[in-house]
Amino acid sequence: MIYLDAASTAPTSKMVQNAIIDVLSDNWGNVSGAHQVSARAKNMLEEDREKMAQLIEAKSENIVFTSGATEALNIVLQGFARKNPRSKIFYSAIEHDAVFKTIEYLSESNIDTVKIAVDSNSIYKRDFLNDINEGDLVCIMPVNNETGVINDVIGLAEQVHERKGLVLFDAVQSIYSFDPIELISQCDFAIYSGHKLGAPHGVGMLYVRDRKKIDQLTFGGSQEWEVRPGTTPAFLIHALRIVFEDVIANRNVLSEQMKKIKKYAIEKINVELPFVSIRCSEVKTSNHIISLEIYPIESQMLVAMLSNKGICISKGSACASGASTPSRVLLEMGIEKQKALSTIRLSFLPDTTEQDIDMAINEIKQCVDMLSAKVVASNEK
Ligand code: PLP
Repeated sequence: MIYLDAASTAPTSKMVQNAIIDVLSDNWGNVSGAHQVSARAKNMLEEDREKMAQLIEAKSENIVFTSGATEALNIVLQGFARKNPRSKIFYSAIEHDAVFKTIEYLSESNIDTVKIAVDSNSIYKRDFLNDINEGDLVCIMPVNNETGVINDVIGLAEQVHERKGLVLFDAVQSIYSFDPIELISQCDFAIYSGHKLGAPHGVGMLYVRDRKKIDQLTFGGSQEWEVRPGTTPAFLIHALRIVFEDVIANRNVLSEQMKKIKKYAIEKINVELPFVSIRCSEVKTSNHIISLEIYPIESQMLVAMLSNKGICISKGSACASGASTPSRVLLEMGIEKQKALSTIRLSFLPDTTEQDIDMAINEIKQCVDMLSAKVVASNEK
């Protein structure tokens, strides 16, 4: 099996699995209890929080553990809207559904939401900056999950702050492109998801500079500063800390490995798949994502065929992979519907090899040949 869908989720290493088993065996207490079993679990949790904070040069009280990025984005967007119903929320046209659908809900609830337009390479247009008033929130992503495009969010954040706005970064895909310390220093809220980095599903980190800027969304216990009440999954948070620490320590090396693999893949694609165009190739993209247009082949069929051959890729966002509707993000970039439906995403792990690429491209070529023959036959009917 060849896995080229790392932007959707990354596998957990044996080291992480063993660490989780150890915690579940020896340190399984409820962190909120009053006895020694709980105290041990609580110590581990607070050590993990402290370490995560150090890694991004923040304080422990800035760190809220959540079930993942979707929950964290909802906590910030909805929490901000509750607290500041008269402020505007700006959001980019290429945001993940976790933002987009929350914004849809908030607009229906009479919150003033403003879409930030993008150009054909999914680079943010900056005219929205003039409309920011003090206290408005701007939600942008450093790296897009479908195209891999890198936006200059640091420069944008500076301009938003000059206008006294607040900045939320969906940093889920950004770890190999932006130093988290730099990102965190330039924003008011930032979000990372564990399962993109090799922790299990169900854990994420929300950085909050000032908790007073958002209202509480769910109610219950006093865990996670009451920003995210509910019994804390200390074993998942421990796994998140392990992968985050590892990725930060080795960011440059891992990113370089993926850069080489991406360069190799692009050269190979240009030679072996000359009918394919690489999206957004004129702008900076993350080393772990390539978006390909394979028009007139429909990606849904291709992804299914490749899966049967043991090659795992995606059409774009995993959350929308089952859908036969074109990607909202690609349409926002001005791509025609049929071409948007002819898009595949290859995304790499740090240990993806040239052999993986060779095999995947070989299979893509064969499947595309078969599907092209079908397209020709159906056009001749
Ligand atoms: N934001 C981006 C950019 C993503 O890529 C994803 C996952 O695909 C999410 C948010 C949602 O993450 P989670 O699965 O942790 O809720």
